[in-house]
Amino acid sequence: MSRSVIVVGGGASGLAAAVTAAENGAYVTLLERLPRVGKKILLTGNGRCNLGNRDSDFSHFHGTLPQAKQILSGFDPVRWFRQFGLLTRTDAEGRIYPMSGTAASVLDALRFAAAQRGVRMLCEKQVTGIRPKGNRWQVIAGNENFTADAVILCAGGSAAPNCGTDGNLLPMLRKMGYTVTEPRPALCPVLTDPAMVRALKGLRVKAKATALRGDQILKSESGEVQFTDQALSGICVFNLSRLAAMHGSSLTLSLDLLPDLAADETAALLDELLRLRGDLPGGELLTGLFPKRIGEMLLRQSGGNCNAAASEITADTLKKLRVLIHDLRFPVKGTASFSQAQVTAGGIAGQCVTKALESKLHPGIWFCGELLDLDGDCGGFNLTWSWASGICAGRSAAK
Ligand SMILES: Cc1cc2nc3c(=O)[nH]c(=O)nc-3n(C[C@H](O)[C@H](O)[C@H](O)COP(=O)(O)OP(=O)(O)OC[C@H]3O[C@@H](n4cnc5c(N)ncnc54)[C@H](O)[C@@H]3O)c2cc1C
Repeated sequence: MSRSVIVVGGGASGLAAAVTAAENGAYVTLLERLPRVGKKILLTGNGRCNLGNRDSDFSHFHGTLPQAKQILSGFDPVRWFRQFGLLTRTDAEGRIYPMSGTAASVLDALRFAAAQRGVRMLCEKQVTGIRPKGNRWQVIAGNENFTADAVILCAGGSAAPNCGTDGNLLPMLRKMGYTVTEPRPALCPVLTDPAMVRALKGLRVKAKATALRGDQILKSESGEVQFTDQALSGICVFNLSRLAAMHGSSLTLSLDLLPDLAADETAALLDELLRLRGDLPGGELLTGLFPKRIGEMLLRQSGGNCNAAASEITADTLKKLRVLIHDLRFPVKGTASFSQAQVTAGGIAGQCVTKALESKLHPGIWFCGELLDLDGDCGGFNLTWSWASGICAGRSAAK
């Protein structure tokens, strides 16, 4: 008789786990609390689903799960999806998307694969408990009970709670004895002093963003930074946000607005602009180099007057301006909430699971996806982990 497996959660990792367990001969039932599976998959990559990345370096992943390195090393998302008829294309930065350019086809490919392999999908079933029954497991969803040889928990993290993911299983898992690394929002805007960014709301600049603790550089990322009325946003800021969640107000974000220029080149550039624009208001000195409101803010912060002629800018102000252009500092006031986060940093600690992601506390229960304490950088790394961990747990649970 084939082994029975219950998959809890019909997101990215749950669908990967269900398809793989069924492929390996298991009789699989998937329980999803929402009316449909894969709601979050449809939102990924702005509806285009950045399903993986050509760069598989483990430095893109963070958390307490060293086992993940081995699990990720053998996984190729292009080949895995190809077997379900989903073709992909890779952009210049190495990000992998479905050829169709729409996330719906990723979900469709997984749904078709699950149906073809006989996975039974039951929606509007919110799991609230798990208990042993003989040498099997009983899963409780409302007033219904489901019994199986193995259970794979794929209920996600706490990010984007409108997708059914609000950490609802964590209290139960803590009671069962699991160590949970405190879940925090990641891949999200970083909050700062509103007075510093309000005037810049809506602007975007290319910059190198650096997370500093005191004068210690923790991490730098380059890309487009966006300003909102109380936060810094954009992919490079997202990639620093887990540090903001961990270190809070002891962190500072520094922007280098001309990362390709050395300090003496910036000085020469400012001298040239002064020669060309000396008769214009100071607020126009940097126009063209940066959006006008940023140029004005930089001059004001350097002690200059935006309305007086640029030729009146003092040597001291010019010196401060040169420094600010390469090191514009924003105090960190935390991160945006889970509702604005793409992923959760934290979750079930790696010490609780084996190399195959089976529970060390309760053999017969597996974990995968964002429920575990592993999160990736922006760029397809989180879905890569969801697919790879789902496959690993599905294969192992079916044995
Ligand atoms: C807006 C947005 C954009 C993103 N874009 C990308 C991207 O382009 N590339 C990338 O790599 N990553 C992206 N991510 C992150 C990625 O989507 C997640 O890391 C990934 O979906 C996690 O997969 P998962 O299976 O662990 O959880 P999820 O996909 O979140 O699925 C968990 C499922 O479990 C269900 N569930 C929860 N509790 C229960 C319960 N008690 N009983 C039954 N069911 C339950 C939920 O309803 C949900 O369907 C994005 C995230 C967001 C929010």
